[in-house]
Amino acid sequence: MGLGPIWRLRTAVDEESPALPDDPAAVQAESAAPMAPDIAPRAPSVAAVPVAAKAVAEPVAPPRRAVQPPATASRSRSFAEDSPRPAQPASVVAMPDPARSARIATLDWTSLEADMRACNACVLCERRKQAVPGVGDRQASWMFVGEGPGSEEDQRGEPFVGQAGRLLDNMLAAIGLRRGENVYIANAVKCRPPHNRTPAAAEIGACRPYLERQIALVQPKVLVALGRPAALALLDNEVSIGAARGRNLDYRGIPVVVTYHPAYLLRNPQDKGKAWADLCFARRLMAKQTERAEKS
Ligand code: URA
Repeated sequence: MGLGPIWRLRTAVDEESPALPDDPAAVQAESAAPMAPDIAPRAPSVAAVPVAAKAVAEPVAPPRRAVQPPATASRSRSFAEDSPRPAQPASVVAMPDPARSARIATLDWTSLEADMRACNACVLCERRKQAVPGVGDRQASWMFVGEGPGSEEDQRGEPFVGQAGRLLDNMLAAIGLRRGENVYIANAVKCRPPHNRTPAAAEIGACRPYLERQIALVQPKVLVALGRPAALALLDNEVSIGAARGRNLDYRGIPVVVTYHPAYLLRNPQDKGKAWADLCFARRLMAKQTERAEKS
């Protein structure tokens, strides 16, 4: 199934009822239309006010021990985004080492990425080719958070460069965004989970100080969590995507929009309409955030 024609910027009316054609005939018809290719944005992005550069400090990297993942780590990546989860304790993502977190919270970009590349705080370090820190505009208004690198990302050192990444690029283009321009993309875990399994909560916890620092440095106006592990990393809570969608959630004062992971959407194209609605919701939140920033 072609992905491109499905993602395009629509009008406000379309936002109310996103008719995202998934039947091949409709897709083909759209493909044939002059406006069909949709890699490039079709409308200007929501106005963005770049944020100022942020704090710096030199790192000191003490030796670290690898944390073994819990038994849940071995489950395969199912992308059953809406399936119910067992009840969770209040804090799901443990903070394994407060001193390490405090140290990471002082790092500048260069030191932060160097620290990720040298990290051995969890077992994911053992089989990575390289850590995959993040990519994009470091003063972006938008920050998208995925799950963790896959095989291509592990090879290339950049998030979302595989098939799911191409869909993510199309999703960005659909709301007038382009990778690297006012968008920063990161993952909940920076090292590839073997066999693309879902990262365990302990692994997300071990990597969370990095994500927290990335967010603190970027200072996005809106965070978009792509899939459950990303939502877990940002909200420190297990959520079902179905329940979290459309809610204005919060990470330390920054709105969090939860939507489906592009890999899930590749397997479940019938849910692309919902993801489109989520992106429109995110865009409305961004407009509000921008308005608020302009007033203050
Ligand atoms: N899936 C993710 O969650 N992140 C990537 O970087 C690639 C695929």
